[in-house]
Amino acid sequence: MKIGIVGAGTMGAGIALTALYAGLHVCVYDIMPDALERARSYITPFLEKKGLLDRLSRLSTTESLGAMADREIVIEAALENRTLKAQLLQQLETICTATCIFASNTSTIPIAALANAVTSPGRVIGMHFFNPAPVMKLVEVIRTAQTDPAVIDSTCALALTLGKTPILVNDSPGFVVNRVARPYYLESLHIVSEGLASVEQVDQALESFGFRLGPFRLMDVIGIDVSLAASQSIYEATFHEPRFRPSLLQQQLVERRYLGRKTGRGFYTYADESASPTAAIPVLGFDALSDALRNAAGVIGTENDPVHLAGRVVAQIVNEAAFAVGEQVADMDSIDVAMRGGINFPFDVFAWARTFGFDRITGVLDGLFAHYHEERYRAAPLLRHLSRRAP
Ligand code: NAD
Repeated sequence: MKIGIVGAGTMGAGIALTALYAGLHVCVYDIMPDALERARSYITPFLEKKGLLDRLSRLSTTESLGAMADREIVIEAALENRTLKAQLLQQLETICTATCIFASNTSTIPIAALANAVTSPGRVIGMHFFNPAPVMKLVEVIRTAQTDPAVIDSTCALALTLGKTPILVNDSPGFVVNRVARPYYLESLHIVSEGLASVEQVDQALESFGFRLGPFRLMDVIGIDVSLAASQSIYEATFHEPRFRPSLLQQQLVERRYLGRKTGRGFYTYADESASPTAAIPVLGFDALSDALRNAAGVIGTENDPVHLAGRVVAQIVNEAAFAVGEQVADMDSIDVAMRGGINFPFDVFAWARTFGFDRITGVLDGLFAHYHEERYRAAPLLRHLSRRAP
């Protein structure tokens, strides 16, 4: 399959490398010659390391969008700007064949908005990779009500050819991974904002039960500005759903330019690149969390021990996943696959919730709701249904 990639930044270069690993022919377009050169210099050593340097002959780079004319699929990975992406698709429509698929790697822009920018919306689909694209297994394939079924099939088939696991998602704010991961950050930010526990305590609590990076360390890696923008985008797109309300604590750090590792300071300080802020802590694992939660007393989430802290965050993750299923964004199995493959969660959200007990989780949420009287703790209708627990 001849693949075109528009945008040679972090994601475009990563997707190009992934396609070369799979033996495909790739043409990468960017308006910035520097970006094309950087992409080539990023790709070359990885191919060399795998003894695949001859695959470089299958890579072409171009500053002319016209080079996309013979492509069967174009993956758009340009800057996250709705007008820019819409214009690129409109131009591509005049260049490419009628059967060429337009797949956008956007993280936040509704696919339907991009589809309706062109005269043939059936060929537009979301193909959301995760960073670093050559490593992360998941691809969210996002369909709109207008996407042609054959386009969905071809896009899923391409993801498989690329060695990825595709999950099918209906177009909606944050898709699956960015949405269901929101409570990992936002609930942790609530805990710290209200003074219940420190950044270190929350990170250690979640890491001790198997999360690879605590939420604050992870936000420092992602960029606190990037994380804030993701919450803002979902909050706006859902007409201010309280569960997605961004955190003032995060906003204050952004105003001070404490953006995380990239500025040397975020929730933690990174004076010396080689210094790891993570103290070695014993990892008990997720089963230990299940056991501890079964035995915990009182309202989960109102104490600052690791079990209460982690229990509250995990309950909100399950709740968000249940809202997403109830709203038909994706099915339960897909969400389980997505949260492992897209963000390395250490548990299958629904498989775990089923074993642990939907009614126990609803009980945690009802306890938090009674304690805080806040909308954000209302249990998803699906969770309530599955748990058969009266409010
Ligand atoms: P980036 O800033 O690294 O790269 C963007 C590239 O787009 C740049 O090379 C820029 O020169 C190029 N560009 C700008 N205008 C262009 C135009 N008119 N035509 C062609 N190229 C143009 O950004 P990125 O992190 O690679 O993100 C790209 C897309 O992928 C965005 O939509 C983003 O939301 C999405 N995404 C990013 C991540 C991530 O973690 N970085 C993950 C998933 C999805």
